[in-house]
Amino acid sequence: MAQIIDGKAFAADVRQKVKKYVNRIKETHGITPGLAVVLVGEDPASQVYVRNKGKQTLEVGMNSFEHKLDKTCSEEVLLSLINDLNLDPNVHGILCQLPLPDHMNENLVINSISPEKDVEGFHISNGGLLSTGQSSMVPCTPLGCLLLLRNHLGDLTGKSAVVVGRSNIVGKPMASLLLKDSCTVTIAHSRTMNITEVCSKADILVAAVGRPEMIKGDWIKPGATVIDVGINRIPAPEKEENKTRIVGDVHFESCERVAGGITPVPGGVGPMTIACLLANTVTAFCREKGLEPPSEITV
Ligand code: NDP
Repeated sequence: MAQIIDGKAFAADVRQKVKKYVNRIKETHGITPGLAVVLVGEDPASQVYVRNKGKQTLEVGMNSFEHKLDKTCSEEVLLSLINDLNLDPNVHGILCQLPLPDHMNENLVINSISPEKDVEGFHISNGGLLSTGQSSMVPCTPLGCLLLLRNHLGDLTGKSAVVVGRSNIVGKPMASLLLKDSCTVTIAHSRTMNITEVCSKADILVAAVGRPEMIKGDWIKPGATVIDVGINRIPAPEKEENKTRIVGDVHFESCERVAGGITPVPGGVGPMTIACLLANTVTAFCREKGLEPPSEITV
């Protein structure tokens, strides 16, 4: 049976490290790092994420600035707010919650955030820096996966890694990070031939597909480490009518029997995402002040 990789506990540990570092910054520099979150509209899931981010930001001792705009506001108004936050010395990280309303150009908005304050690592400059192996702001979910992998396996050099999914926010940056850690990396996607065979060669398998329980136990190399990024809500008639439950992209029960280590859903990668957002805000602060970011919470 695989060892369960406890992302919830590890995320708490990352937050503790961030908190310690924030305290040290306050003592030695007399400044409190600040994270600004911009929410446009009233998407219920986005409201929950923004509330959680704000709460956890305050818990680690940082300032949290929330800016809520009406869903009908113009792109110009949003760009002007981001410009103000770029110039605000109390703001070290900026996050613009996605998705944005249809009348806004997401790429334009994301690329208007100063790359140094882009704590989600979605700015095209940060994407370019990461894919050329240079120091950058790294997207939070892949950063969380890498920290979990390093903690579980130690040195990743020479391992064969397969990332299923090629999105700009998870799959591609994940592959870049694994390559930077000297893995031999394959990216699989919806057009990959013989995907089960490709996956069965992986010492490290990262699933970021958005298909409930797609990856089954017989796709997994015995002893492999399986990181499940997926968050899928499916019907759960066994609970009650109209009830749902969350599952990953990996079929946990069958994969757990074959893998050496596996992240559960929930309680695996999910909690690492906000923890890494806080870690990235500390990293952004340190870089702005010419300090070395703490190595255990950055790459
Ligand atoms: P996207 O929809 O942007 O990308 C999905 C990727 O999976 C695409 O590259 C697609 O290939 C590939 N894919 C789809 N179907 C198949 C298939 N049948 N076989 C092989 N590959 C396939 O999703 P995201 O990257 O944004 O998210 C992936 C998952 O991770 C989702 O469940 C999402 O909810 C979750 N997530 C979790 C986060 C967390 O905090 N834990 C954060 C972000 C996402 P192609 O490019 O060819 O279409």
